[in-house]
Amino acid sequence: MHELEQEKRIYERSDHNISRDNISPNALKVLYRLKNAGFAAYLVGGGVRDLLLEQLPKDFDIATSATPDEVRELFRNCRLIGRRFRLAHVHFGAEIIEVATFRGQHSGDQGDEGQIVDGMIVRDNVYGSLEEDAWRRDFSINSLYYNINNFSVEDHVGGMDDLRNRKLRILGDAEQRYREDPVRMLRAVRFAAKLGFDIEQKTEEPIFELGALLEGVPPARLFEEVLKLFLAGNSVKTLELLRHYHLLPYIFPQTEVSLKEDETGKNLEFIIRALSNTDERVKEGKPVTPAFIFAVFLWDSVRALKAKYLERGISDSQTLTAAADAVMAGQNRRVSIPRRFHIPMRDIWNLQDRFIKRAPKRSYRLLKHPRFRAGYDFLLLRADVGDVEAELAQWWVDFYEADEEGKAEIINKLSVGRRKQRRRPRQLEP
Ligand code: ATP
Ligand code: MG
Repeated sequence: MHELEQEKRIYERSDHNISRDNISPNALKVLYRLKNAGFAAYLVGGGVRDLLLEQLPKDFDIATSATPDEVRELFRNCRLIGRRFRLAHVHFGAEIIEVATFRGQHSGDQGDEGQIVDGMIVRDNVYGSLEEDAWRRDFSINSLYYNINNFSVEDHVGGMDDLRNRKLRILGDAEQRYREDPVRMLRAVRFAAKLGFDIEQKTEEPIFELGALLEGVPPARLFEEVLKLFLAGNSVKTLELLRHYHLLPYIFPQTEVSLKEDETGKNLEFIIRALSNTDERVKEGKPVTPAFIFAVFLWDSVRALKAKYLERGISDSQTLTAAADAVMAGQNRRVSIPRRFHIPMRDIWNLQDRFIKRAPKRSYRLLKHPRFRAGYDFLLLRADVGDVEAELAQWWVDFYEADEEGKAEIINKLSVGRRKQRRRPRQLEP
């Protein structure tokens, strides 16, 4: 039986909990203007899914019967983007509402081999009906359509039942859908972690085998996905799932190796603590930097490589930089980290050595370092897992938190300690 034969279901306004109060006013404006111009207009994707789950949507996507050119006619603040699939972006200050025309090209149709764009197999960009549009989406829960015309939710794929049963189900043949676009495997993990849903059996089975397909995805696209994976507030669960499905080797190959070689389990604990802190910060609405997360993931690899370089007799002052560069280059081959994050990452690693040498002037100077706080947080995490002496971390906590007078006192003690240490051997001399 062809899936398109699945019965369409309509959930009237009284049968669901989506209220216009929770939809961004700009998205509503776009929906109404499309409707008033005589086009079909629906909210779709994560916006509908999250509203049905009583969560706050990250963004609002719209699907319509209007073509991109027709959308542009209606909105002055509109830009058309995309190479093969043209999408309209309607700009309202910082908020962008994405408007996509209903698309056909159900997977595997008509023996069309398609073309590879950004690591995805894409077939001809044909416009289609809402029903066809519903089947080319990734997961059933991402394929629910909120109709601005009568405030009902249209479900062509059984997404509402899956939402109720907390199941993530891919549309169509799972393996084929992952081959078309391997990033769907990362999306499966992301949604399962974010929503706490189970991945349905047929949806999850091929993932264990197909991780290597991610090697065909451009590193820049993977970077965008990795940000979504680790900065959405569920990164601990995400890491667990990535490891479970053997996907980690394809996005953090060096981390995978260091975790395999990690006999004490300290590195895993370090990473999990860092991610758990990040999740808390995200939930409190505090800023988090990708550089910190990447620095955490790659720290053990940098250190191991540095040790190797030292063995080879490379001078101590250069080993860290050389190791950092080599490890970052390795990472960039899979997931390309934009250059603006390279310096912060290197600084965080460099500071770890500089924290060890406590000296009056140096310590004050480090406090003013632009990456002090990130390096300091990194140090405290290391201390938490016994990767660095607790006494050292505590010293920096005391110093950092003290007022000016307190700081002077701490520094003073330091030099008193030093003087004593220096004198002692002399006193022992006969
Ligand atoms: P969120 O915005 O919360 O991360 P989302 O589901 O809205 O989640 P988007 O990346 O914004 O994800 O995509 C919007 C919608 O477009 C999805 O819900 C899905 O229907 C469709 N979609 C996105 N990426 C794919 C893909 N790789 N394959 C098929 N459909 C996709
Ligand atoms: Mg979205």
